[in-house]
Amino acid sequence: MATTTRIEWADATTNTAVGCSHCSPGCDHCYAEKFAHRLSKHPIAAKVYAGVVDERGKWTGKINSNFSEKMYPHRVPGKGKRVFVGSMTDIFHPNYPAENRDELFASILADYIFANGHGHTFIILTKRPQAMEEYFAAGPGTLLRRWGRAGNGWIIVGDGDSETFEEYADGQTIPQEMTSTRDNLRQDYLWPLPNLWLGVTVCNQAEADAKIPALLATPAAKRFVSIEPMLGPVDLTSIDYPSGRIEGAEESGMIDALRGLTMDDAPTHPALDWVICGGETGSGARPMNPDWVRSLRDQCQEATVPFFFKSWGEWAPDCLCGTKKPHPETPRPTPGHMGCMFKCGKANSGRSIDKRTWDEVPQ
Ligand code: SF4
Repeated sequence: MATTTRIEWADATTNTAVGCSHCSPGCDHCYAEKFAHRLSKHPIAAKVYAGVVDERGKWTGKINSNFSEKMYPHRVPGKGKRVFVGSMTDIFHPNYPAENRDELFASILADYIFANGHGHTFIILTKRPQAMEEYFAAGPGTLLRRWGRAGNGWIIVGDGDSETFEEYADGQTIPQEMTSTRDNLRQDYLWPLPNLWLGVTVCNQAEADAKIPALLATPAAKRFVSIEPMLGPVDLTSIDYPSGRIEGAEESGMIDALRGLTMDDAPTHPALDWVICGGETGSGARPMNPDWVRSLRDQCQEATVPFFFKSWGEWAPDCLCGTKKPHPETPRPTPGHMGCMFKCGKANSGRSIDKRTWDEVPQ
């Protein structure tokens, strides 16, 4: 668990498993893989990272999950933080241990009910939203019961003797004033989990089309997209929607994912609640065209969806470090710029677009 983080949109990170494998062009320079390679040689962390990267520092697809209970979300100190859960893995990777996944959600549920809804906000990002949709399709009745059971024996309630977590979660979470049937009461209060935001990472339009429909079909308190590294332009107002996904429509079509509307302005699934964007960092980082970023900012502004710009990454739209070494393959940015991006490094390239930063977050 890290109680501070350099990830601009989070206050803390926590992992109850580590390991992954590439599944997108956005994974080409995965920071977590490089970090895991370093930690696999560290005398204290080596055991945790054993076998998750090979000798060349590449993910093997193995996921290690023997973490102490102290690493689970409800043990993050304090209150009111945005906590990125799973920064060193993808929780919906096919090799992610199923029991660990249930324990993770049990812990997020525990944080919510122990703090009476005033605990942390947990943020999960995946590049595999189809698996996430499938997981949540089990529905609130099944999942809330499963998460309750998954917390038994290690999420301690009171003196630890009188009640299991399952019993506590079943009995204590129902506000007195709610009057429908018992099962519905639990679901009204806890579903979708109010302290859990779910997001998908995409790097270009093809990935946005392939992944955003699955995210929109998944129940979540907030849904968001992280376009990082941004490797191509993305129009969130024209997302290709496959056949059968739009209620009442047999044909496939396009939707405006920022407003939750079809092109005929008919409401569809819920819309995106948040958009994050950022450039690539680290060795081998690819530059992004400033116009892609401006377009995304403008789409969000017009739809009144919060927009968060993380950073330009290694490549800046103006030379801010004095080396003035342009990248010859960069697409030409807007007129008025120097016709290329500059490799200034993340520390120099900054976070402002046309002289202002964008740190919008959903309320
Ligand atoms: S899904 Fe995320 S953690 Fe996994 S390889 Fe890709 S970038 Fe890295």
